[in-house]
Amino acid sequence: MDRILVAGAGYAGVFAAKELARHGIGVTVVNAKPYHQLTTWLHEAAGGRHPVDDYKIDLADLFYGLDVQVEVDEIHRVDWKQTRLVGRLGTYPYERAVIGLGSAPEYFSITGLYEHSLPLKSLESARVIRRHIETQVRRYAKDGNVSRLTVVIGGGGLTGIEFAGELAEWLPKIGRTYHVDQRQFVIVCVEAMPDILPMLPPNQRSLARRELERAGVQFKAGSAIVRVEDQAVYLASGETLCAGTIVWTGGVRATPVLQASGLTCDHKGRARVDGTLQSVDDDRLWIVGDCARLDRAGKPLPPTAQLATQMGRHAAINLMRVLNGEGQELFVPKIYGTLASLGHSRGVGDLAGVRTSGRLAGVFKELTKVRYLLQLGGMRMVNRKRRLRTLQV
Ligand SMILES: Cc1cc2nc3c(=O)[nH]c(=O)nc-3n(C[C@H](O)[C@H](O)[C@H](O)COP(=O)(O)OP(=O)(O)OC[C@H]3O[C@@H](n4cnc5c(N)ncnc54)[C@H](O)[C@@H]3O)c2cc1C
Repeated sequence: MDRILVAGAGYAGVFAAKELARHGIGVTVVNAKPYHQLTTWLHEAAGGRHPVDDYKIDLADLFYGLDVQVEVDEIHRVDWKQTRLVGRLGTYPYERAVIGLGSAPEYFSITGLYEHSLPLKSLESARVIRRHIETQVRRYAKDGNVSRLTVVIGGGGLTGIEFAGELAEWLPKIGRTYHVDQRQFVIVCVEAMPDILPMLPPNQRSLARRELERAGVQFKAGSAIVRVEDQAVYLASGETLCAGTIVWTGGVRATPVLQASGLTCDHKGRARVDGTLQSVDDDRLWIVGDCARLDRAGKPLPPTAQLATQMGRHAAINLMRVLNGEGQELFVPKIYGTLASLGHSRGVGDLAGVRTSGRLAGVFKELTKVRYLLQLGGMRMVNRKRRLRTLQV
């Protein structure tokens, strides 16, 4: 039997590859980097909690002992008519493939946003943000330009809020290192919608807001960013925020590879799949995670890691059913809730329908980390990444 090709080693791709390999099916994974990045914890990496490189796992280590061959290459196109992936370094023929190439920042055509903001989306972008903030603090210590100490976060969703929580704890520490009064730092979170964390109920949003405001974060909700220049953010209200660092977390769209491949995509570039996660264009392709468009109750499923892992595993199971001549099963998403960290030990959200906040939510958030590492590689992985856990269990 030909090897199954898995494009992308993110949350969806890794779970698809592991599921297939565990059932004795040879897999080739093509990924732009030789590692799996722990994307859901990138706010910690960018916000100075642990060294950035701690937030990656080498693919060779992840697939140790399994028949998974890793190719490091950047895919440009899924040439589904010729059943091959076209990469920068080579082409990868397949009989059947799982595509999990994730998403990229969405800039909504806001003038200057792409050019003058830093996205928080990859390990490298987390490293850039972290260095940039430290550089601004060092420069302030020399030139006294106080706007260098302002960080504007565009987007009050999960990523923006979790990053604000990290910054509120990290900036005072950098201040001490560079002898800068911590009261000089300003963190402003700008959200176009009327409130932050739209996926949470209103009372939990208020809790998150209050908690972060106590830590020094300012909010501008219902304020759309209309233009960005070097170190300046212009709001629809007419207000201008001068900032040494502008981080954009306000939205994602699917990888451009799918549209470039001529697959049927929605307005956010997500390739349309049927209820089994098979591409509507080609039954040799399963498309999973942030780059797939699947509706439930008339709405597209949100781009989350918890759904990406489920989709990856489900696509692998369906693919094996096809190989065995069996019918495929419909994908039924299980949404276990949303937990947002507010710094290293506190949080807000709900887990399996139970609303939680404060330290308890912080503990739950830590437990979701342990759970993910266990799923990835058992106790071996939990121990390997021990340093990343605030809660040592
Ligand atoms: C800071 C942050 C916090 C988050 N927190 C949460 C959370 O708490 N809970 C939650 O459920 N979700 C969270 N998310 C969202 C979650 O991370 C994504 O939904 C999830 O990563 C999607 O998984 P995926 O496999 O579809 O894509 P990804 O995990 O992005 O994986 C895509 C993979 O494809 C590779 N790739 C991309 N393009 C190419 C190419 N052209 N060629 C080769 N390889 C390529 C990438 O290197 C990557 O390995 C968070 C996101 C961020 C940024």
